[in-house]
Amino acid sequence: MYSVNYHRATSVADAASKAKGEAKYLAGGMTLIPTMKQRLAQPGDVIDLMHIGELKGIKVEGKVVTIGAGTTHAEVAASAAIKAVCPALCHLASHIGDPHVRHRGTIGGSIANNDPAADYPAAMLALDATIATNKRKIPAGDFFTGLFETALEEGEIVTAVTFVAPDKAGYEKFPNPASRYAMTGVFVVLDGGSVRAAVTGAGETGVFRSVEIENALAGKFEASALDAVTVPADGLMSDMHASADYRANLVKVMAKRAVGRAKG
Ligand SMILES: Cc1cc2nc3c(=O)[nH]c(=O)nc-3n(C[C@H](O)[C@H](O)[C@H](O)COP(=O)(O)OP(=O)(O)OC[C@H]3O[C@@H](n4cnc5c(N)ncnc54)[C@H](O)[C@@H]3O)c2cc1C
Repeated sequence: MYSVNYHRATSVADAASKAKGEAKYLAGGMTLIPTMKQRLAQPGDVIDLMHIGELKGIKVEGKVVTIGAGTTHAEVAASAAIKAVCPALCHLASHIGDPHVRHRGTIGGSIANNDPAADYPAAMLALDATIATNKRKIPAGDFFTGLFETALEEGEIVTAVTFVAPDKAGYEKFPNPASRYAMTGVFVVLDGGSVRAAVTGAGETGVFRSVEIENALAGKFEASALDAVTVPADGLMSDMHASADYRANLVKVMAKRAVGRAKG
């Protein structure tokens, strides 16, 4: 490691006031610390958000779910209140990484980082969540703007995410056997008459909604409705783990499994 100034913030306002120049916020450190070790990030100052009470906690009022940015994946996975209205999100959280990652990593850190293979971005997009920051509210559809890119401005802090639990939701991913990141993951939602399907781990520009999957499921919310669907490989990633064609097939397979899970 190299020399860095550590600041323990006591509130969101305190954290924001300390964010100057190349400073970085630290949540669970599950991405930031390895990135610093590899010298991919070299902040002079690190501002620790993990001791800020107002960033923590889960609130479920009717079908409205609000999760503080500092809430860990393990807390979401174990939340009986979320499970009662949107079990798919608990299922997703329980399959992130390993126990260490789940007990340190946070929902705010995950969506602020916007790794193209991360699980939560697909959920946020399909659930049509709203991302609250210390400055404004951002619809998930406008939040994820590219690989490791978001609509967050310099120094802006994610404070919470909010969504209305849909009638049905399901998530399935094909995990990388080493990291458990999604080689492809699909989160499907049936809400009233409308269907949303968001794909992670596959897109060259990060998380996206699949028009092909949504159109097919809008007619009939059944896995069999996807039998005749062809997902185009254009715009999908090819890397050492899988080709774009392979991922295109995985989108369809994961979507079918996600619908099966949504329907119980
Ligand atoms: C071995 C391993 C396996 C993993 N497997 C998976 C997986 O299967 N699926 C998956 O989705 N993820 C996976 N992850 C990532 C994990 O989910 C982390 O939680 C995620 O990367 C965010 O980490 P963090 O909360 O610790 O944030 P940090 O690492 O502390 O921060 C990440 C970035 O977000 C910024 N940030 C953090 N909080 C905020 C905030 N409130 N507002 C604004 N900016 C903020 C930081 O400045 C930094 O740039 C894995 C990680 C590891 C190390």
